[in-house]
Amino acid sequence: MQCNDPKCPHHGNIKVRGMILRGVVTSAKPEKTVVVEREILIKIPKYERYKKVRSKLYAHNPPCINAKEGDIVEIGETRRLSKTKSFVVLRVIGHKEEIEEAVPEEILKEETSKEEGKKAEKTKKEATEEKAKKEKKLEGGKKNESN
Ligand SMILES: [Zn+2]
Repeated sequence: MQCNDPKCPHHGNIKVRGMILRGVVTSAKPEKTVVVEREILIKIPKYERYKKVRSKLYAHNPPCINAKEGDIVEIGETRRLSKTKSFVVLRVIGHKEEIEEAVPEEILKEETSKEEGKKAEKTKKEATEEKAKKEKKLEGGKKNESN
């Protein structure tokens, strides 16, 4: 489908350069604009955990793409199109419901169980070490007694 939107990345006169991101459209109410929300996993070294961070971006939604709420879209960075927009929707990849089952939940679960496994191992090790220390102390005490 052809459109005559000058801000369309395919039929207009804007150039996409910089970041290309993926996210879910949480709102497509404003005209030719979508709110794209991304979930990023950020590792926190202190806790050896991942934190889910949500980020919202406004992107131009050209008529030939016409992304709807719940769509998973690819957006590209471009020049500033308005006060809040410097991204444009490049294409719709799929819909939230179709992909949600297959994607990160499983990976996330695996990651957490792995991390937990590591932690459990660690505490086990610590416990045995402490036990060994205590035993040593006892031995030492006994020696002192016999002396
Ligand atoms: Zn177009």
